[in-house]
Amino acid sequence: MSKQTLSFQAEVSQLLHLVTHSLYSNPDIFLRELVSNASDACDKLRFEGLNDSALFEDAPNLDVRVAFDTDARTITITDNGIGMSAQEAIDHLGTIAKSGTKDFMSHLSGDQKQDAQLIGQFGVGFYSGFIVADKITVESRRAGLPVVEGVRWTSGGTGDFEVETIERSARGTSVTLHLREDASDYLDRWKLKSIIGKYSDHISLPILMQKEEWDAEKSAHVKLDEWEAVNSANALWARSKKDISDEQYAEFYKNLSYDTEAPLAWSHNRVEGSTEYTQLLYIPAKAPQDLWNRDRKAGIKLYVKRVFIMDEAEALMPAYLRWVKGVVDSADLPLNVSRELLQESRDVKAIREGNTRRVLAMLDDMSKDVEKYTGFYAGFGAVLKEGLGEDFANRDKLAKLLRFASTAGTELTSLADYKARMKDGQATIYYITADNLAAAKNSPQLEVFR
Ligand code: ADP
Ligand code: MG
Repeated sequence: MSKQTLSFQAEVSQLLHLVTHSLYSNPDIFLRELVSNASDACDKLRFEGLNDSALFEDAPNLDVRVAFDTDARTITITDNGIGMSAQEAIDHLGTIAKSGTKDFMSHLSGDQKQDAQLIGQFGVGFYSGFIVADKITVESRRAGLPVVEGVRWTSGGTGDFEVETIERSARGTSVTLHLREDASDYLDRWKLKSIIGKYSDHISLPILMQKEEWDAEKSAHVKLDEWEAVNSANALWARSKKDISDEQYAEFYKNLSYDTEAPLAWSHNRVEGSTEYTQLLYIPAKAPQDLWNRDRKAGIKLYVKRVFIMDEAEALMPAYLRWVKGVVDSADLPLNVSRELLQESRDVKAIREGNTRRVLAMLDDMSKDVEKYTGFYAGFGAVLKEGLGEDFANRDKLAKLLRFASTAGTELTSLADYKARMKDGQATIYYITADNLAAAKNSPQLEVFR
């Protein structure tokens, strides 16, 4: 394919304008997004490679490299993951699948920090590169394609982009950012390394940077031909609890959920027995806007022996707990497990039950802190009630977690509290249902009992 100039889909142009004009107060996130794409690309290769080991060619060790060139004023993020064909580069970097942009825009709050946090959530993370770059060059070759079928994609981040075929021996993708004048401070090893440490430490494959050495003669740092990992390259959930700080747990949650607020609670356990797995489950502080949508995808990512298998693994959590975020890493499931298989697997059933028990135990624990639990309940209480009709095995535990308005005061009450203050000889509990609390309170039927 000779060089072609193509236009961005209108939505993309709109998005690019937004990115460059309103997300610049938190520019660091570009690195998080590009490293996340590089890591996704490696996950995809590992996954496709399960059925076709030839895709690994002669480079089985997957990694991400972050390099910079002070003279050329560029930063390059390279991965040896799945790569892109020319058509994929056109499709994936020129258009936005689903309704990514629209969704993204409709969620913007005007608070730049919060909005920047959202960008990865709607499948538009790549474009965050244009916060710091006025030109991006992507070179790629899809795993398994011949060397002459590499692709170069270039854009200045306005109306159009160019694509051409190139020769590329390395499998995978390099994204080169040509930095804007005001982004020079990213040409610094320490700076890049600290951003990676902050946002990408949880990435489970090595993120490498070139070592540097002080050269007294030149009185400058010079790069050595040696690369070292600058992240822990170790899936957080696979580490021992005692080696993980609260900040690391919270940061991992934010990366997982795109939430800007720290979670209310979490629970991290290695479960042994007939089914072995690790669970790291989080209770968010705030309910998402689409909480009521029962088709909303579950918030659980599934890994098998550290290999990423799928997002939104709905089989691992009952629907009434769809708002719980977290990771499950199974030691037993086959790597090529599909969604269909998940529905039938006995191991999955055991994991789902284990997750459910764990969440209910976390909530039971939280309920001892009335203020915290009231806050939680305001957001999630009603969806928790769905569980009564859905999860018969846990009805008693669930019932204990429910709270109700009562005539006794303004606070919500549990059944246990209600029983504790029942008058001697009271044999009945009367309840009333209504559209809302005010309607119930003003109901003429209630008057009789008062
Ligand atoms: P998302 O990662 O949520 O899909 P992005 O805007 O970050 O959205 O990336 C868009 C798409 O571009 C990705 O889904 C992927 O298909 C492709 N892509 C981006 N970076 C890479 C990469 N390093 N290797 C392979 N494909 C990539
Ligand atoms: Mg992405």
